[in-house]
Amino acid sequence: PQPQVQPDPTKKTLVVLGTGWGSVSLLKKLDTENYNVVVISPRNYFLFTPLLPSCTTGLIEHRSIMEPVRSIFQHRKAAVKFYEAEASSVDPDRKVVIITDNSEIQGDTSQTEIPYDMLVVGVGAENATFGIPGVRENSCFLKEIGDAQLIRKKIMDCVETAAFKGQTEEEIKRLLHMVVVGGGPTGVEFAGELQDFFEQDIKRLVPEIADRCKVTLIEALPNVLPSFSRQLIEYTENTFKEEKIDVLTKTMVKNVSDKTVEAVATRPDGTKETITIPYGLLVWATGNAVRPIVKDLISKIAAQKDSRRGLAVNEYLVVQGTRDIWAVGDCAVAGYAPTAQVAAQEGNFLARLFNNMAKTEALEARIHELSSSLNLKPGTNSADAAREIEECERKLRRIKDIKPFHYTHQGSLAYIGSEKAVADVSWWNGNIASHGSMTYLFWRSAYLSMCFSTRNRLLVSIDWLKSKMFGRDISRE
Ligand code: FAD
Ligand code: NAD
Repeated sequence: PQPQVQPDPTKKTLVVLGTGWGSVSLLKKLDTENYNVVVISPRNYFLFTPLLPSCTTGLIEHRSIMEPVRSIFQHRKAAVKFYEAEASSVDPDRKVVIITDNSEIQGDTSQTEIPYDMLVVGVGAENATFGIPGVRENSCFLKEIGDAQLIRKKIMDCVETAAFKGQTEEEIKRLLHMVVVGGGPTGVEFAGELQDFFEQDIKRLVPEIADRCKVTLIEALPNVLPSFSRQLIEYTENTFKEEKIDVLTKTMVKNVSDKTVEAVATRPDGTKETITIPYGLLVWATGNAVRPIVKDLISKIAAQKDSRRGLAVNEYLVVQGTRDIWAVGDCAVAGYAPTAQVAAQEGNFLARLFNNMAKTEALEARIHELSSSLNLKPGTNSADAAREIEECERKLRRIKDIKPFHYTHQGSLAYIGSEKAVADVSWWNGNIASHGSMTYLFWRSAYLSMCFSTRNRLLVSIDWLKSKMFGRDISRE
């Protein structure tokens, strides 16, 4: 049977913002027939971010790590409404979300209001630039699929331009200098993938300039991967040295122009020196900043006046100062790192919570209905009604109260190039730090198993095989 399309007036309207890790994990496990579910996101697909760095060099094709959200909803008993739009503001007093279609093609209506009874904010975060001049205009980010496609295009543009007849030596060096700012996992994984690309494909296909290709990673702190254990940090830095990736630690970028980066480096004796680094491609990976929609919501809730890094939530992920708004993932401040692992567990938690709430409410409503009928018409079928009330009460007792959200850290993994990875894996009550080629195989199998669907798993496996057999596709489209 076709799912019901019109909203059911007897059910609450649950509006979910975003189609990332948090929101999609919630939607995957939610019994959608309990609510009128409306999903709003400028992106009509889920993106498996852990493999995004591999798309920048064409090791993996971008569509292999995307899953259309409409296919997630297709087999649901109740229809889920999806609007491809950005939530531009939320009015918590009127309980409406204002949404805007900012896509290329627009109809007569491109802005409207969506009323909600319950709202889940899972809009993620945007790229931090710390207001550093020139960053937005001159660098590439690595958050969305479009970012990876742009980087892939630009890398090859730099290579082909460097190979142009008559190019000066100085210009060749600049064009082939790829600078990555930010030594967190995003910057490290991208630098590793890029060096692999130069070693495995550019050396073979464009040998005349390959020896001038250079990757530099700039990090403001004394080391890269600050959230990993000491042993893995050292292993990563040594591996980068072997791979000939330059790592400039204690170096903070202060200014960016179209061809150079200006940074302040702290020398071992504590003195500071300003250095200018010419680049062909600049990738900016310095972490997260709060999205405007989240800032707007924070400004409308008195209890959020001290929130700086996102929406402060309580142990049930309810946005503090509200009763009907929840937040998950990178836009929520619950005391955990902004990772896919956290967002997914939060989404799963909310699905259980909402499924439970719906069951409880339905049973309570039935008990209320039966008790009223007993009071109105005592005697008529009263034994049946009393039995059913007892049954409902028994079921209610069986529905366990959901305990507050508790995050279980399963470990951190990062690819560092030349078929090596680092892993801090939680094991019983301890931590195991592992690295090298076996860890790389573990990294691959873990990410393959975490892919959203069997279709994604198959596509990613084929991409890996294809690149192994024929090399990466360097066509610039
Ligand atoms: P997202 O997944 O970013 O989703 C946000 C959603 O909200 C998107 O669908 C977006 O389109 C939508 N949205 C944005 N604005 C609006 C709006 N105004 N209205 C409605 N919708 C909106 N974490 C790990 O644990 N392991 C990893 O290996 C890992 N690798 C990563 C690699 C890269 C390159 C990057 C960038 C991140 C990686 N992360 C990893 C971090 C992880 O991707 C994030 O923590 C995770 O995506 C957060 O989930 P989220 O649902 O909060 O946000
Ligand atoms: P991050 O916040 O982890 O790291 C950003 C780095 O940029 C910091 O080390 C910071 O010191 C540095 N930085 C900031 N400003 C700078 C400047 N002006 N000059 C030089 N360096 C500067 O950011 P990320 O790597 O994008 O990660 C974001 C989140 O996503 C994190 O929670 C991370 O754990 C998660 N993530 C996880 C994985 C993984 O598990 N494999 C991969 C990617 C991202």
